Formats: sequence, structure tokens, C-alpha cells
Amino acid sequence: MKQPFLSATPIIEAIENAGFTAYFVGGAVRDYLLKKPIHDIDIATSATPAEVKNIFHTTVDIGIEHGTVMVIHENETYEVTTFRTESEYEDFRRPKDVEFVRNLREDLQRRDFTMNSLAMDKNGTIIDYFDGKTALANKMIETVGSADERFTEDALRMMRAIRFVSTLGFKLEDKTRIAIEGNRHLLEKIAVERITAEFEKLLLGKARDEAILLMVQLKIFEHLPMLTSHRDGLMHMASFSLENLNIEEMWSALLIACNVSAKEADAFLRKWKLPVKRIKTVQHIIKSVLERKNKGCWTRLYLYHSGLNIAISAEKVFSVITAKQQDIVSVRDGFAALPIKGRDELQVTGRDLLEWSIKPAGPWMKETIAAIENAVVEKKLTNDKQAIKEWLKQWEMI
Ligand code: ATP
Ligand code: MG
Repeated sequence: MKQPFLSATPIIEAIENAGFTAYFVGGAVRDYLLKKPIHDIDIATSATPAEVKNIFHTTVDIGIEHGTVMVIHENETYEVTTFRTESEYEDFRRPKDVEFVRNLREDLQRRDFTMNSLAMDKNGTIIDYFDGKTALANKMIETVGSADERFTEDALRMMRAIRFVSTLGFKLEDKTRIAIEGNRHLLEKIAVERITAEFEKLLLGKARDEAILLMVQLKIFEHLPMLTSHRDGLMHMASFSLENLNIEEMWSALLIACNVSAKEADAFLRKWKLPVKRIKTVQHIIKSVLERKNKGCWTRLYLYHSGLNIAISAEKVFSVITAKQQDIVSVRDGFAALPIKGRDELQVTGRDLLEWSIKPAGPWMKETIAAIENAVVEKKLTNDKQAIKEWLKQWEMI
């Protein structure tokens, strides 16, 4: 057994010492067998949430109604979930109620794909009731039991299947694939936030181009927010080399591929329920990319108004959509060479303007400061109090 499982074995031992069973389950076991980095460790147990809370000093209720308690042990957190079945599914979404059971097999049976239905005990012995190891060896995504049933129970699983194509580079097993084609419309019943979480993982996965093409082939996109009419845009997106883009840059590339302007991006991304901050960043990046494209280079003014981070993101996205070599060094150098990096570095303030002018305070001050700022950035004016005063007089702005 290796880390991070080693650190988590005391959790399993403590549960076993209290007379219950407990296993590592889900993505962590899958990724361990695939020799991939493991991010979060999930533990499944026969103990009820109340029983789990009795065993450990520090726990946090993070989803008691679903049977999940977070256990904090030596500064690490572990999600401990009671074995459960999900008998009652409502409206093609997650189950209304969960039923706790004492048996591991029943718990593994309700999981989405065979590769995700593996469990491991504290000694590293793999428990594989549903042929998950074969699926891993064959790099296949296959539902546990009838694909049609599993997708009608919870339609999000279709989206998860496609995102695993992207993150793991696996293929869809035939019956699973056919069932996605047949049930894809049910995705419209799913809470957008859940779809978005999977779609963002898809965008960040290594085989994203294959996953996006699959979304087109299986017509999944017809049931996703705002993408219905963007078949060509998605094909375009799949043709890009999208390595090393972060999530905001990825959304920007997608929207540009779909011919969505910075202004339209707001309505588009709101439908995906993205946080406002992320939407704003994407809008800035798109605006900067289009400006960079139109101007043919980074102008001082645009570097200044974009800010370094947005400009770097825009350069990355620009290089992706134009298949040109990216030149982050020039962006950094260009930014470093700007006479000022922000308005606070200007040698004059509104107070100076009022002192120099007979005009009363008003909107003209903001406009004048902006004009000074741009002239300084473009090196048409030195950032010096006296020089600025002369310049304002010359242009009769004061
Ligand atoms: P990742 O490595 O990206 O976290 P994961 O497989 O661990 O992938 P999670 O969303 O963390 O994905 O889910 C943990 C486990 O819970 C899965 O491996 C699977 O066994 C089960 N699971 C998650 N979502 C579903 C679902 N919608 N239907 C059935 N089982 C699910
Ligand atoms: Mg996980």
C-alpha cells in the first residue's frame, strides 16, 4: 500500500475496531490501479453516520442525508459514506432518498461505471464484484448493469461517461454508447451545476478533443445549455491544440470557436451558472484576444487595460485559435516596459485638476484623468506633474 492510502488506513482500522467494515472506494481505487495521481480518498462503511461520528474526535457533517461525514485526521480530510442503495429515483435525477445498507456489494452496485465500482481493503486487497479491473485493462467505460436503466436513474452519468473519455482517455463500451444516444435528452432534466462540473472536468482532460467530438457524434450537445446550435463551433474547438489552458482560457477558446462575442458571453455563461467572477474573466480574455487579432500585435494601451494576467491568458488563447507559436515573453516584456501599470501611479489626481482649473468638479475630471492615463501609457506624455499640466493647457483641457 502506498500514500495517500497509508495515511488513511488508521481511519479504516478505527471503524473496524468499533465493529464495522470499511473500504476505500471510487475514483481513488481506480486511479491507484491506473497509477495516476490520487486527489481525494473516499471511504465506504457499514457504520451509519451517527456511528461514524461516535468513532472520531473531529468530524464535519457535509452530507448526512446522503450518509457522508467528513473525518479530519492529522490535518487531512476523508469523506466517509455509509453503504447505501439509491432505490427511488425521481425525474431522472439523483435519488430522492437513500437507504443505508450494511453490505458493500449493494453499495458498489449503485455506482456508475464498473471502473468506479472497485473497492480496496486496508491491506490493499481489491474487491471487484463487477469486473472493474477488466474495464481498466481494456480502457473501457461501461455501466454497472443495464446502461439504459443506469442513465434513466441519473442522467448525469452520461455526462460523466464523456468526461471520463476526456480525463482517462478511455473508450465507451458499445452498450453504454448506444444507451447514451438513446437517453441523451434526459440531460435536460439535470441541474445545470452538476453538468457544468463534469463539463469543466471534460475541458481540462487530456483527451478533450475526442470527448468533444463524441459530444457531437452522440448529439449530446443538443441538450446542453446554449450549445444546441453550435455543432460547428464544437468541431472547431475539437480541432484546436488546447494543452495547458486553464479553465477560464478553455471557456474563452470555446466561446471564440462558437463565434460568441465578449458581450454575448455573459448570457451564454450565465446559463451554465458559472460564478460571476469567472464570467467576467472570460469576457476580458475574449475581448483581449479579438483586439490582439484585429491589431495584429499587442498595443501598449491594450496591454495596460487588459492587465498582465488577462494579457497572458489572451496570448495563450490567441495562439491556440490561430495555431501560432505563443509569445508570453513579449507580453511580459511589453507589460514591464509600460510607463505606468495602473492609474495609482499617475503623478496627478483629481485634486490637482481642480486646483488647476476654474471648472467645478464633474464628470470631466474622470474623462481628463483617462485621457492623461492613455497619453502616458502611449508615451505621448511624460508622467510628470508639470509636464501633464502643460499638456492639459496645450489641449485646453483645463
Ligand atoms: P474524480 O477522480 O474526477 O474525482 P471520481 O470517480 O472519484 O472521479 P466523484 O464524483 O468523486 O468521481 O465520485 C466518486 C465515486 O462516486 C465514483 O467513483 C462513483 O463510484 C460514485 N459516483 C459519483 N457520481 C455518481 C453518479 N452520478 N452515479 C453513480 N455513482 C456515482
Ligand atoms: Mg473523486
